[in-house]
Amino acid sequence: MHREPFTPELSIVIPVYNEEAGLAALFARLYPALDVLELSYEVVFVNDGSRDDSVSILAEQFRMRSDVTRVVLFNGNYGQHMAILAGFEAARGEIIVTLDADLQNPPEEIGNLVMKVREGYDYVGSIRRKRQDVAWRTYASKLMNSLRERITNIKITDQGNMLRAYGRNVIDLVNRCAEVNTFVPALAYRFARNPTEIIVEHEERAAGDSKYSLYSLIRLNFDLVTGFSLVPLQFFSMMGMLMSLASAILVAVLVLRRLFWGAEAEGLFTLFAISFFFMGMILFGIGLLGEYVGRIYQQVRARPRYVVQAILEQASASKDGNVAGVERRTVGRH
Ligand code: UDP
Ligand code: MG
Repeated sequence: MHREPFTPELSIVIPVYNEEAGLAALFARLYPALDVLELSYEVVFVNDGSRDDSVSILAEQFRMRSDVTRVVLFNGNYGQHMAILAGFEAARGEIIVTLDADLQNPPEEIGNLVMKVREGYDYVGSIRRKRQDVAWRTYASKLMNSLRERITNIKITDQGNMLRAYGRNVIDLVNRCAEVNTFVPALAYRFARNPTEIIVEHEERAAGDSKYSLYSLIRLNFDLVTGFSLVPLQFFSMMGMLMSLASAILVAVLVLRRLFWGAEAEGLFTLFAISFFFMGMILFGIGLLGEYVGRIYQQVRARPRYVVQAILEQASASKDGNVAGVERRTVGRH
């Protein structure tokens, strides 16, 4: 495979969406934590269409540490997972670590992840020792976690945590995927030869608010389940089969009753209850089918998944080896 001239040992990929309040604190902890590791690194920030001052703060940081900093700028908001994928495209390291911008994942843990990768693992997930989120998030996430584990066959103990390290082999494969709705840790897990997990600390958000509403969390979980499993669809086929069987038996019983004991007219409301229950199930089934169909539709339209407006990087670090300018501005479609 083609390798770029400058290949750092470690790439950090950080999606940023309206994080102006916390970025300074992030820089203050992230860069020292990386410097002590004594390896060559780069930090790839992906601005996911922030509407606040994040872009100028990132650009300023790029000017201060342009030797190790690169900034990918989206033209709009495409979501955390698309931002991470764009970061993967840009990253050149042999080890790639993803991190949230809000300091919930302590940058000091990066060293532990890197150590694990060096032991021969190409996917190092992490489990939050004590999760510092509001209670309903923690419980809902636990519930989804166990449901997802059962239907997708992906062994991620703590799916909501983004602090993870991936080997170059995994990232190269992820870069070849063109999925519109995806969940990065699960996708990468699929390609890992030798996955493992470690326990890490988790902190409260340093500044600003969570960028996820209840609605977007539900959407994300749908992406996770429908993107990695057909079990929900099969569940409905199975339900359909069982129901047909049960109603066939019911018909047989009614026929026999009619023949030997006469017609039946009671039980009207029981009938209502049963048919409302079935109607609910059918609606849910159609909705679920729609989730898959909608995703197929988005996929076949094949629109660009995200649009990179510009990349701030040192000319010597750029892929085309252009040494004339300091910043490279590209308009790319992926
Ligand atoms: N994020 C993003 N685009 C979005 C939403 C979030 O790039 O549309 C980033 C955000 O800036 C942060 C990370 O994804 O770096 C995780 O977001 P957040 O902390 O709000 O999620 P939570 O920790 O509440 O799950
Ligand atoms: Mg967070």
